Amino acid sequence: RAKADGRGTYRFFETGMDARAQARRLLEMDLRAALQRDEFQAYYQPIRDVASGRVVAFEALLRWNHPQRGLIAPINFIPLAEETGLIVQLGDFVLRSACNDAATWPDDVDVAVNLSPVQFKNPNLIASVTEALALSGLAARRLELEITESVLLQNSEVTLTTLHELRAMGVRISLDDFGTGYSSLSYLRSFPFDKIKIDRSFVSELATREDSMAIIRAVTGLGRSLGIVTTAEGVENDAQLELLRREGCNQVQGYLFSKPRPASDVAIMLDRPRLLASA
Ligand code: C2E
Ligand code: MG
Ligand code: MG
Ligand code: MG
Repeated sequence: RAKADGRGTYRFFETGMDARAQARRLLEMDLRAALQRDEFQAYYQPIRDVASGRVVAFEALLRWNHPQRGLIAPINFIPLAEETGLIVQLGDFVLRSACNDAATWPDDVDVAVNLSPVQFKNPNLIASVTEALALSGLAARRLELEITESVLLQNSEVTLTTLHELRAMGVRISLDDFGTGYSSLSYLRSFPFDKIKIDRSFVSELATREDSMAIIRAVTGLGRSLGIVTTAEGVENDAQLELLRREGCNQVQGYLFSKPRPASDVAIMLDRPRLLASA
C-alpha cells in the first residue's frame, strides 16, 4: 500500500496495490493540491420563474480547472472528495464563493448551493454557513441550500435539527433530484422544504413517456397543495418548457436558457439569457 513517509511524500507502485487504487490515490493527492493551488471555481446556472420569465436565482456548480486535464465536472471528483472528507473544505469554498458572488448581484436574485451528506456529518456546518453569510454580507434569505434525500437517510435526528437551525437563520432548503432514489413522500412530511427540484430524468423524457408526464403532474400538484415551490431541472427545449408551464411548475433551469458559466458571465445571463442557450 502507498503510505505516507511522514513528510507528505508517498511511495507508489508497491506490490499488491492495483491500478485502480493507484489512480484513486493519485486523484486524491491531486485534489488536495488543487485546493491549495486554487483550481476550483464555482460556475452558475440561471433558474427562471416560469410566469414572469425572470431569472430568480443561480445554482452554484463546482468545476475543477485542472492544469493538464482542463475543466473537470463534479461527477469525476465529488465522490472521492466525499470518501476522503475533502468535500468539507471544498463545500466551504463553494459556500463562500457563492455568497461573495451573490452579494454583488441584484437583491432579488438568489443563490443555490449544493450540500453533500458528508457536510451534514460535520459539526461545523452551521458555523460555516454563518461565516459565509457574515463575511459576504449576503442576506440569509438569498441563500438556498440544496440537499438530496440521502441526507435525510443518515442520522436523521441530528440532520433534522441542523436543517431546522439553518431554516431559523433564514436560509431556505430545497430537496434536489426529487423522484430519484427512494423518494419516499414521507420526506416531505419530515421537514418543511421550501422547494422541490424535479430531477432532470423526468424532464428529458417528458415528450416521449406518458409516465414522466404523470409524475411531473403529480409532483407539481403536490407542491401546490403543500405550498412548496417546484423547479424543473434539465429543461432543454421549448416543448418541455411549454408542458411544464401547463402543469404549473414554478421555475425552470436548463440548457434551454444557459449552461453553467463562470461568475463573470452572470451579468450577461441576467440580461439576455435566451441568447446563451446554444453557447
Ligand atoms: P445537481 O445539483 O442536480 O445539478 C444539476 C446538474 O444538471 C448540473 O450538472 C448541471 O450542469 C446539469 N444540467 C443543468 N441543466 C441541464 C440540461 O438542460 N441538460 C443536461 N444534460 N444537464 C443539465 P453538474 O454541474 O455536472 O453537477 C452534477 C452534480 O454534481 C450536481 O447535480 C450536484 O449533485 C453535484 N455538485 C455540483 N456542484 C456541487 C457542489 O458544489 N457541492 C456538492 N456537494 N455537489 C455538487
Ligand atoms: Mg443541485
Ligand atoms: Mg438536481
Ligand atoms: Mg441532478
